[in-house]
Amino acid sequence: MRETLDFLLFDWLKAGDLTARERFAEHSAETFSAVLDTCEKIAREKFAPFNRLADTQEPHFDGERVHLPQATHDATRAYAESGMLAAAQDYDVGGMQLPCVIEMAGNAFFSKASVAMGGYAMLTSGNASLLMAHGTPLQREVFAKNEFAGRWFGTMCLSEPQAGSSLSDIATRAELEDEADALGPRYRLTGNKMWISGGEHEITENIVHLVLAKVPGPDGRLIPGTKGISLFIVPKKLVNERAELTGERNDVSLAGLNHKLGYRGTTNCLLNFGEGRFTPGGRKGAIGYLVGKPGEGLRAMFHMMNEARIGVGLGAVMLGYAGYEASLDYAKQRPQGRPMTAAGKDAASPQRPIIEHADVRRMLLAQKSYVEGGLALELFCARLVDELATGEDRAGAQALLDVLIPIAKSWPSEWCLESNSLAIQVLGGYGYTRDFPVEQYWRDQRLNMIHEGTHGIQALDLLGRKVVQQGGASLAALAARVQQTIERAIQTDWAPQANQLAAALAQVGGATKKAWSTGEPEEALANAVPYLQAFGHTVLAWLWLDVVLAVSGDSHFAHGKRAAARYFFAYELPKIAAWLDVVARREPLCRDIKAEYL
Ligand SMILES: Cc1cc2nc3c(=O)[nH]c(=O)nc-3n(C[C@H](O)[C@H](O)[C@H](O)COP(=O)(O)OP(=O)(O)OC[C@H]3O[C@@H](n4cnc5c(N)ncnc54)[C@H](O)[C@@H]3O)c2cc1C
Repeated sequence: MRETLDFLLFDWLKAGDLTARERFAEHSAETFSAVLDTCEKIAREKFAPFNRLADTQEPHFDGERVHLPQATHDATRAYAESGMLAAAQDYDVGGMQLPCVIEMAGNAFFSKASVAMGGYAMLTSGNASLLMAHGTPLQREVFAKNEFAGRWFGTMCLSEPQAGSSLSDIATRAELEDEADALGPRYRLTGNKMWISGGEHEITENIVHLVLAKVPGPDGRLIPGTKGISLFIVPKKLVNERAELTGERNDVSLAGLNHKLGYRGTTNCLLNFGEGRFTPGGRKGAIGYLVGKPGEGLRAMFHMMNEARIGVGLGAVMLGYAGYEASLDYAKQRPQGRPMTAAGKDAASPQRPIIEHADVRRMLLAQKSYVEGGLALELFCARLVDELATGEDRAGAQALLDVLIPIAKSWPSEWCLESNSLAIQVLGGYGYTRDFPVEQYWRDQRLNMIHEGTHGIQALDLLGRKVVQQGGASLAALAARVQQTIERAIQTDWAPQANQLAAALAQVGGATKKAWSTGEPEEALANAVPYLQAFGHTVLAWLWLDVVLAVSGDSHFAHGKRAAARYFFAYELPKIAAWLDVVARREPLCRDIKAEYL
């Protein structure tokens, strides 16, 4: 994986060129590589050996405290000490001022080694970065800085038992207590937050919850819709302006842990805010400090959305990668069956390793095309985040990111899950047991189509908003970028694939128009997921073509990349015809079928 990562970063995406920019001027290709080396080492030594342990010794709540394996404490500590929590932050807040693409690449090692143990740090970094963008100077000093230092960890509390995809329906209430608190306007919060990752643990002395809640209107009622939603810092233990614990417990309590299919090493919590279990300041109600302006909570929460969704997509890719490598290794060693040739008919002849069978190679090549293509997708998007922050064509980067982010989140969630399923298949019966790691990768992976916007919600975002916004400007920007690759490829041996991609692009454009031809969202969006699948496969075909144009030479590495690209064009891209057919016809079956018939 390291060789592919280095190739994609430095040869294909030219990440080294970023050092010419003022923000990254103190870096060099060598410092970037040193960061990757450090991450690889910590992931190999502190995370990977304990991935199974974190799964089997799942978090346990004794009614008072949550217990985690010591290995999780040690691994997260090592991560914090590496400085990666503040990797992209300014030097003056203790950061390394790394480009997003290098930060993401470094974090990829942890996702591959143990995605669940890595979860605490990813949440903390996202939480603190959000506070850097929207918090007051004191909120940054007290909360964000201590999170970057690893002294406290953070969470993101959006979901509620009755409000997951539809956040406008959250019911957590925030009532003003003191407008003039130094840490920010102080409110009392009451409500329940469901599915909160890292919501309780004792890895760090405190937990900084970022909570979405509604401030009631003058009539005391909660304002319907997203406009009434504000964002609050709700520390588990109260702190003063000098970031010292006051000794008082905030009114946030763990109602219980969720017991999950996978991702078991990260606690997942139902948290009660303001139920009166604790009474800070002598009364019930969780103390929360407003971040930003009232009513702008959702906007602030989604400020880091690009990074969060690329992070989820990259996590999905790395789980796929872990399965691919495990099954490749197994396939080279497992003797089973004989060749189909005359020689193979001799039952006394030795069996061949299963990697010799075409069908097993098909499964390995499929995985390779999914995970390496997925890695290219995520790094490309992370590089666009750098363009957005420090590049010259920021509007262009924004347009591309707009349409690519739903793909970055959803494509690996679906296809690297398929990849993990194929890894199990390669191992046969052994793959289905807990003696091998591939079943855990599949279970861990299964989350990714659910959180950070479900698959269905990503599809609605893509077809319902992103490709039609500003008269289709983002889609046009992507098409222009794909066209550049086609024009380069048409001059090479890859001309057939270039033509195939041009046809796919035209099909996607045509289906987009037909889906919206009646202007009825119900009609257009009934087949949004097949559209998302076709769009994603077209994007991946484009990236594979772009990647192979950067490959040269006759090495195994180069042949492998070309084979994976050819596989994608031969076996995967043709699938889009069926997906786009129902989109373009606005196939009404799923929309019209009566619930009673199901
Ligand atoms: C392990 C885990 C960790 C999580 N971590 C966090 C966390 O740290 N913080 C946090 O705030 N949340 C977290 N979540 C919550 C997660 O974001 C939600 O589960 C997710 O948003 C879906 O919400 P839901 O579970 O209520 O499902 P629902 O919203 O009820 O969705 C159920 C199904 O209906 C579909 N659906 C819903 N609405 C529509 C629609 N309008 N059109 C078409 N289809 C629709 C969905 O696509 C889905 O298939 C986590 C969840 C899990 C399982």
